[in-house]
Amino acid sequence: MIRIKQISILQGSIFVPLGAWVIALSIFLVFVQFTSAKAQDWEKIELQSMELAQGMWAIYGAGGNHVLATGPDGVLLVDADYSEMGEKLLAKIQELAGQGPQRVIDTHWHFDHVGGNQALREAGAELIAHQNVRSRMITGQHLDVIDHDQPPADPGALPVLTFTDTMTLYFGQETITLFHVPFAHTDGDVVVHFHQANVIHTGDIVFYCGYPFIDLNAGGGIDGIIAAVKSILALCDENTQIVPGHGPVADKVGLEKYLNILEEFRAAVAAAKAKGMSLEEILASDVTDSVDQEWGDKMFPPEAFKEMVYRSLQD
Ligand SMILES: [Zn+2]
Repeated sequence: MIRIKQISILQGSIFVPLGAWVIALSIFLVFVQFTSAKAQDWEKIELQSMELAQGMWAIYGAGGNHVLATGPDGVLLVDADYSEMGEKLLAKIQELAGQGPQRVIDTHWHFDHVGGNQALREAGAELIAHQNVRSRMITGQHLDVIDHDQPPADPGALPVLTFTDTMTLYFGQETITLFHVPFAHTDGDVVVHFHQANVIHTGDIVFYCGYPFIDLNAGGGIDGIIAAVKSILALCDENTQIVPGHGPVADKVGLEKYLNILEEFRAAVAAAKAKGMSLEEILASDVTDSVDQEWGDKMFPPEAFKEMVYRSLQD
């Protein structure tokens, strides 16, 4: 897996100098984003929101994005941002909803999505997630791509209500379906579908800001991500508002474009692998150039995504 500490190897052996600097910079930016628990100046962060429907907002988190829903049954939040953002998130919820959340749904176990769990639970929220989220939070995890060790979570941060396949919440006039998409970004991803509002929170199945991260250590894979995007698209019409794990709110056309990018990229890497090219040869090749030009300069650099896709393809 490409890691920060391998940048010098990339500079020295595979890439031309200019390319190496671009790659080094890209990986550094990813590193900053994903380890920002240490690097951020939390005081300066202001959470921005966007109204999706009456009483429902997207909140652009410092980590993952949120959906905040309000109704006669109270307040429900999707995802919990970084731990350092817990108090700020509670203040934003208070500002928008006039009260704290009773329920919080974690879309997966990553620390930029469950970090605020403890603060939200102490404020009275019941934490809901896939069973694998709880299991992974109990044992602690390692994230290869950023060489990050995530220690076991405090018991107060663990989901208390878990499921394995689907769950339906009846929330005022709203019906909310939570459904598991297997072996995708992780092995515990949940998509949250607000039927009446026609809003879908995708978790990190969708990075609407560049190539997604595939957590190979936690059961993720490119084919699971593609299957998950297709299952989300099957729920969409032209008015659906799609709140991605990262990036701006998207629509069906945007999600179709994202699917095309993933499929084209996967096909290019799979074809190169089938021809017998090694990972190193694929990393140094231009097989994904047509997609990279459009989508490869925003989040994870193409080389990192090539490696994640390559490693997740079945032999
Ligand atoms: Zn994630």
